[in-house]
Amino acid sequence: SSSRAEEDAMVARREAVLAPNFTLLFDKPLHIVRGEGQYLYAADGTQYLDCVNNVCHVGHCHPRVVAAGAAQMAVLNTNSRYLHSNLINYGEKLLAKFPEELCVVFFVNSGSEANDLALRLARVATGGNASVVMEGAYHGHLSSLIELSPYKFDAPGGVGKPQHVHVAPLPHKYRDPAACDGAAVGAKIVADVKAAGQKINAFYCESIIGCGGQIVLPDGYLAGMYDAIRGAGGVTIADEVQTGFGRVGSHFWAFETQGVVPDIVTIGKPMGNGHPVAGVVTTRAVADAFNNGMDYFNTYGGNPVSMAVGLAVLETIEAEGLQANAVVRGDQLMTGLAALKDKYPMVGDVRGIGLFIGVELVTDRESFEADGEAARKVVEHIRHKWHIFVSPDGPGHNVLKVKPPVCVTEADCERVIAAFDDALAALSQ
Ligand code: PMP
Repeated sequence: SSSRAEEDAMVARREAVLAPNFTLLFDKPLHIVRGEGQYLYAADGTQYLDCVNNVCHVGHCHPRVVAAGAAQMAVLNTNSRYLHSNLINYGEKLLAKFPEELCVVFFVNSGSEANDLALRLARVATGGNASVVMEGAYHGHLSSLIELSPYKFDAPGGVGKPQHVHVAPLPHKYRDPAACDGAAVGAKIVADVKAAGQKINAFYCESIIGCGGQIVLPDGYLAGMYDAIRGAGGVTIADEVQTGFGRVGSHFWAFETQGVVPDIVTIGKPMGNGHPVAGVVTTRAVADAFNNGMDYFNTYGGNPVSMAVGLAVLETIEAEGLQANAVVRGDQLMTGLAALKDKYPMVGDVRGIGLFIGVELVTDRESFEADGEAARKVVEHIRHKWHIFVSPDGPGHNVLKVKPPVCVTEADCERVIAAFDDALAALSQ
């Protein structure tokens, strides 16, 4: 256990060694010392239900994943320029989860690296100089991706939209119904790019919009967009860094809910259950186009330890039926949270697929004005009184994201619904 004074001292020491923009979560920072399953434990012993961390997908410190990584770490860890069966076994098992067109994988170490490599592939494969992204999108912290992330370039400290980036409006059915027609939005963007004298390399889109506010894409949205982008010579990139690996329940990848096959898929976070491993999956045609004489080398990408961890994550999802659990628990949460709309006018919308859910708070259901202050209060109430972590996001900071490890139980989900009910009741007084 650590006292408040010790924790204040930790904050000061942390501030002394880190740059000032490494911020901590919550009004009063938490000292978390252990994770197990869907729970995190603070230094004072308090157990928290983690509905923020979609990285520790099969559960924090899952014994099977930890054992696989530790065993391999004790035997060999080196770069991928030697033959090693872990890389081949995992590559095969991972690609078997994709539609057959997506048959080539590159292993990297973070979602940002995956999206940056995807941009390189798209540039080489198309010769294009312009990229299309969604409003509010975040694709990573590398220089190339801050430029592709309105979430960053439009926020404090950002320098605004670069000329080579074109932004599609969020397909939010209440705020902007016209933005929900992928074919029409795509046609307009293609015309804008042409008018600017540019050529499209890639269209990046998360298969469910995350940082933009947990927005489920309307039916046919990606099909319409993809047709337009491909018609203009661009490739399509599904960013599955948050949504992949069975979280949506009905499918292993969220792009599958849209009935499309992207040219490139980027994956990360849940892939290593907390261990830094990520990937880019693409078609043979794109991979061959990228093979332009320059060697591809990545010191850590595809190392035997990361591959052992990745394999153990896939095995755990299968052995524990976690994709099916995402369906059942996702339905339970959606039903329970959606019922709160009838009780509290400030709940504007409850949406999601599987265990990727958003609760949008508004000042008024007619105008759909964002209520970021209410969302902030709900986060703190739920954390303090119910010991559950949820986080706010979206352009108005008013969408509460619920995306727990996919091993959550019925009792956990009941607790989440009761916590929201209580927090909204407290706020409505
Ligand atoms: N894409 C999406 C959709 C993300 O949410 C993130 C991380 N929040 C990234 C890419 C970048 O991943 P990483 O932090 O592993 O570099």
